[in-house]
Amino acid sequence: MKYYNFSAGPSMLPEEAKLSAQKDFLDYKGSGMSVVEMSHRCKWYEEINDEAEALVRELMNIGDDYYVLFVQGGASTQFEAVPLNLLVKGRADYIVTGNFANKAYKEAIKYGDIVCAASSKDKNYTYIPDLNEVKFREDIDYVHITGNNTIFGTRYTEFPKVDNLVADLSSCIMSEVIDVNKFELIYAGAQKNIGPAGMTLVIVKKDAINNPMPICPTMLKYSTQAEAKSLYNTPPTFSIYMAMLTFRWLKKLGGVSAIQEINERKAEKLYDFIDNSTLYTNSVAKKDRSLMNVPFVTPTKELDAKFVKEASENGLLTLKGHRLVGGMRASIYNAMPEEGVDALIAFMKKFEQENK
Ligand SMILES: *Cc1c(COP(=O)(O)O)cnc(C)c1O
Repeated sequence: MKYYNFSAGPSMLPEEAKLSAQKDFLDYKGSGMSVVEMSHRCKWYEEINDEAEALVRELMNIGDDYYVLFVQGGASTQFEAVPLNLLVKGRADYIVTGNFANKAYKEAIKYGDIVCAASSKDKNYTYIPDLNEVKFREDIDYVHITGNNTIFGTRYTEFPKVDNLVADLSSCIMSEVIDVNKFELIYAGAQKNIGPAGMTLVIVKKDAINNPMPICPTMLKYSTQAEAKSLYNTPPTFSIYMAMLTFRWLKKLGGVSAIQEINERKAEKLYDFIDNSTLYTNSVAKKDRSLMNVPFVTPTKELDAKFVKEASENGLLTLKGHRLVGGMRASIYNAMPEEGVDALIAFMKKFEQENK
C-alpha cells in the first residue's frame, strides 16, 4: 500500500532526501563514518553546514545583511530568545492568533513591557485580525506574529507593515515566497517543513543582535551562534544534514516559487472539496486559510473517529485533529505530493458516500 503521512510535525520528508540519507548512512562520501558519527569540526560536516546555509540563502533570497543560524531548542526556545536578544527599550507588541502565538507572548511577558495588540481568541482563532485595525504602540522594539497557525489552520496573507517584524514561520517556512527584507527576525523549528526535529532555523538582521539582555544565556545569544557560524557547541548534525538534503530537493524542483504553485493547488483542491461536500466543514475564514494545515470535521465525534481509523487503514496516516480543535487535520507541507492530497480527497468522497 502507498502511505501518505499527514502529521503536523514531525512530518513527511521528501522521498529523495530520505533515499539519499539512506544511501550515505553507513559511509558518508568515503569518510568511513556516518554523518551521525563524525565530528562537527571535520571537513565533511563543515561542508554540510556551509551548503545548508548557502541553500537557505539562495532559496529565500537572503542578503548579506542577515545571519542564517542553525540553533537548538525548537521554536519554543525562540519564544524566550527573541525577547532576551531584541528587547532594548523593553517594549514589544504581540498578535495572538493561536496556541503557539500565545505561548510566545507568555514567555515575552517575563522580560519586558509586552502588550497583546490583537487577538483572534474570541472566535477560537479561526481568523487573522484585520491588520488595518491593529494599533501598535510607538517606540517598541518589535512586533511578533505567527505566520501560520498550525493547530487552527490560519495564515497571514499579508504582514503588518512595521519596521521590526519578528515572525514564527515554523509551519510555513519555504512554502511560499516572502520578502525576507520585511523582517527583523524569522525563526522556524525544522520538523514541519524543513527536516527532522532538532534544528531550528533563525534568520536575523545583522544589526539587531548586538544588545542582548545581560541575563541572556550564552547559548541563546544570537551573537554567540553568529560568531561561531552555528558551530559554538555540538549542533544537531543529522537534523541539519537532512535539512540540507531537503533544501537540495526543493532547489531542484524549482525553488520556493515552484513549490508555492504546487502548495496553492493542493490546498485549493482540498478546500474546494470540503466546501462543496455535505459531510465535512472547515470553519476558518476563507481569506485566512492555511496552505499547510487543513482542519475539518464531520457532524459528530463518532464519525470523526471512524474517519481517522478508516483513513489510516487506507494508508492515509495521522489525520486526527489537535485536541484543541478536534476532528481531523490534514497537514500538507512541501513534502506532501499532490497525489497524497488526491488520495485523501478520493477517500473523503468514498467515506461521504458510505456515511450519508
Ligand atoms: C510546532 C510549532 C511550534 C513549536 O515548535 P517546537 O520546535 O516543538 O518548539 C511553534 N510555533 C509554531 C507555529 C509551530 O507550528
